[in-house]
Amino acid sequence: MSNLTTRIIIAGPRGKMGKEAVQLVHETKDFHLAAAVDSKNNGKKIKELSGMPDEDAVIYDDMETCLEETEADVLIDLTTPAAGKEHLELALDHHVRPVVGTTGFTPEDITRLRQKAEEKEIGAIIAPNFAVGAVLMMKFSQMAAKYFPDVEIIEMHHDHKLDAPSGTAAKTAALINEVRPHKSQGHPEEQEELDGARGAEVDGLRVHSVRLPGLVAHQEVMFGGSGQMLTIRHDSLNRQSFMPGVKLAVETVWNIKTLVYGLENIME
Ligand code: NAP
Repeated sequence: MSNLTTRIIIAGPRGKMGKEAVQLVHETKDFHLAAAVDSKNNGKKIKELSGMPDEDAVIYDDMETCLEETEADVLIDLTTPAAGKEHLELALDHHVRPVVGTTGFTPEDITRLRQKAEEKEIGAIIAPNFAVGAVLMMKFSQMAAKYFPDVEIIEMHHDHKLDAPSGTAAKTAALINEVRPHKSQGHPEEQEELDGARGAEVDGLRVHSVRLPGLVAHQEVMFGGSGQMLTIRHDSLNRQSFMPGVKLAVETVWNIKTLVYGLENIME
């Protein structure tokens, strides 16, 4: 193994994202799969699981034991919101740099975890969306919001997703609200005949979450103006779309000593 090799733990290797991450690490010359953390299969090797590449990395069902027994540089976490938060904290405690795609982190979580990363002088990256096209969709939406303050976000995901709205929708709303004057949209006297009909409200902006089998990860940002509409849409058609972003984050997390939230902050 060369000095440049990055030793990686993957949490959630059997998941839809985790499987792609295992493949990414397997195929990337300077990446080495050091171990994995799964909710089952304790003690097995990755290569013993069906459909997995020929990797000898051992699976642990407990993150703390894994971190104690494994020499690792980076943790890639693709699990659940509750597990992801715990894993990120434990990784920082063990001086392993977290690269987290798991969604569901609140602004308070991020502030607290950034403080911890800075105290430990170690890099961490949380990206609610690793797709480069989705980052551009967010940037273009922020540009458009200066001119179109009336905007609604519709995010669409597969029905196994645990959190709503998606991290991408929440992030898009936050970026838009940085440049948009505060505005409550819709008729001032509008009433919801059915709870939730107008979606969730973020500072006057409405966010709608659709969950259906068949979908992967999609988002439309709809702007309305006098006599015109602008729609900015991004579609992730499979989970491979996220892997160039994961690779960039693993390569970048070495060079920072704080927590960076959002792929856009590490893209040139
Ligand atoms: P998934 O298919 O349900 O995979 C999650 C995996 O994590 C499952 O294999 C699950 O095992 C495992 N797991 C649950 N708790 C665990 C724990 N404590 N320790 C270790 N493994 C654990 O979900 P997914 O679609 O891959 O998504 C995973 C996460 O990534 C979600 O938060 C999702 O929102 C997010 N995501 C992010 C991006 C991005 O670009 N950042 C893109 C897509 C998805 P069991 O099912 O056996 O419990």
